[in-house]
Amino acid sequence: MARFGMMDFSRGRKVVNKSVRPKPGCEGFRRSGTRAPGRSGRRRAWALGFVHVLIAGHLIHWWLTGRTLSPIEPSESMYTLENGQVNAGFIFFVVAILSTAILGRWFCGWACHMVALQDLCGWLMKKVGITPRPFRSRLLSLIPFVLAFYMFLWPSIKRETFPFLESMIPGLTNWFSPVKAWPGFSNHLFVDNFWATFPSVIVSIPFFFVCGFVVVYLLGAKGFCTYGCPYGAFFNVADRVSPMRIVADMSKCESCGLCTANCTSNVQISREIKVHSQVVDAGCMKCLDCVDVCPNGVLSFGLGKPGLLAKKSPEAQKVARKSHLSWTGEILIAGAFILGWFSWRGVYEQIPLLMATGIALSVTFLCWKSAQLLLDSDVSLQQRPLRRGGVLTRGGLGLLVITLACVILTISAGKSRWDLQQSSHWMEKAAVNLDQVLLPGKPPVPQETVVAAQNAVGFLQSQLSINRGGWALFEPEGTRLEERLGYMSAVSGDLPAARLWWSSTLDESSVPSHDLLLRLGQLIEKQEGPRSLSEWLETSRDRWGLQPPLVTLRGLLGQKQATASVQSGNYFAAARHLEALIPWIGFNQGLLGDIDRLLDSAPDSEEVFEMRRRISEFRATGGDSPAVNSVPGVRQN
Ligand code: SF4
Ligand code: SF4
Ligand code: SF4
Repeated sequence: MARFGMMDFSRGRKVVNKSVRPKPGCEGFRRSGTRAPGRSGRRRAWALGFVHVLIAGHLIHWWLTGRTLSPIEPSESMYTLENGQVNAGFIFFVVAILSTAILGRWFCGWACHMVALQDLCGWLMKKVGITPRPFRSRLLSLIPFVLAFYMFLWPSIKRETFPFLESMIPGLTNWFSPVKAWPGFSNHLFVDNFWATFPSVIVSIPFFFVCGFVVVYLLGAKGFCTYGCPYGAFFNVADRVSPMRIVADMSKCESCGLCTANCTSNVQISREIKVHSQVVDAGCMKCLDCVDVCPNGVLSFGLGKPGLLAKKSPEAQKVARKSHLSWTGEILIAGAFILGWFSWRGVYEQIPLLMATGIALSVTFLCWKSAQLLLDSDVSLQQRPLRRGGVLTRGGLGLLVITLACVILTISAGKSRWDLQQSSHWMEKAAVNLDQVLLPGKPPVPQETVVAAQNAVGFLQSQLSINRGGWALFEPEGTRLEERLGYMSAVSGDLPAARLWWSSTLDESSVPSHDLLLRLGQLIEKQEGPRSLSEWLETSRDRWGLQPPLVTLRGLLGQKQATASVQSGNYFAAARHLEALIPWIGFNQGLLGDIDRLLDSAPDSEEVFEMRRRISEFRATGGDSPAVNSVPGVRQN
């Protein structure tokens, strides 16, 4: 016979032990009475497992074929709404929302990989004796709606309204990123780069850790769904019009509260059904755990009244979700969240929006808990005492230390974010074509542009890690920062610094940027002249092969050298300069003709004769002749 709390499961029938039934009004607070999910829980686990198999299959298909269906992720809808790219994620999201309006929030309960992650984290925590309790905040629960607006609606609103606003008040929209013209719809159902819109693996792992374990531990079993998921906002609204609900046969309800205790979505089921005879909370994910767990078969999934039409009586208001905070507390933590979010969003050019949301939520909660720790004499977190009778426990001390570390990290991230924003601002003002800086005969860069570039360099240097003289704890991935430092140093007139930054960028690159090679070559020629450029080109060709910008630079250099030799009357030297281009540009009739003409103008000599022989052999073999190797300083590629 298995016993669980006040439930007796003998003979396969669950009987309520009425002697321990909670007092009316106290139902739903007895959280200890939870039990493992039954049939629906197992079905849901299978469904969510199947979703992961499909995701893995999708990935494998891409790996094997190099082209596959675009990611079936709601976030992909952003690209449809902003850039007109119709993709599988958009179609899926629309279908999921429409079906939610009919069936209720099924996607969240049965098909979302993030809910699977949260369920897994919650399950693992239960295994070690931690039952994450939900944190309740009215203002923070608006975050998903704000994010949904920002991600999906704001780009379209901007596009439709900004031109008009700008025509009314010029400069009004300067604070916002530029509006992109609507390019029209395009087909992006199949893609070559499946991962293009996802963060790197190095970011994805901490993302899952923060938005799974940390958020679940701090904010409750569905902490990310409740406070961080923008897609959930759409499902929440759609669920309100759905007639399919968890309905109750109240004649059988014993008000035991077991359903509420088992709802990981923090729905006050036993209270709601008393007022509405159904669950009206749009946070209900139709997971059916409550249906499974009810000992009297009170609950079922069936036709009810859309949540939108539910009673609005004072009695109904009482069962609405309550906050753990006063309005002052709500405003303070909302402010802390906003600061945290802006600090982490896009910092180091790596942290994506949802991860920034997860981190900001966690830091906000930790700050709130720490404030409680300092102000109250008895504080606990997930059944663990942090302060008892005014005395701080080891757990409490640990929480304070963790909070302090998180706050320091957030301040550092905020500083980097500010530096990034400022450097982008000054770089925009200092944007000039580098031809003006690096090529001869161009007008000088205006003074205000030089000042803007110097400011940009200052903010870019701040983004370097502490051990490289900056302020940041981490640097953006890759070499973007060095490239920008080189660019702005060049515009500001500090060519040695530009050369250092660009050289270090190239040293770190496995595939060099063509533009960077071209600009560095031009810079070396401007700084040290053609001889240094020639040496650098040889070294670079050895390292990178015949990259197009290297060939271009070598070609231009050879032409300049040949022209200078012709001007000084040394036709043979000019021919030699052109011959030295053969290993770079290969068999080229125009080039060979130029060499012939130069040799015709040169006085006869043994060297001229020898070169004629090499060129004719080269021509006869169609470019396969190794003759050019015999020319000192000229190597075959
Ligand atoms: S709210 Fe978001 S994360 Fe949660 S289950 Fe729904 S779609 Fe997934
Ligand atoms: S619906 Fe079932 S589990 Fe919920 S309070 Fe009533 S009897 Fe208890
Ligand atoms: S109310 Fe029931 S179906 Fe809805 S989320 Fe809670 S346990 Fe799942």
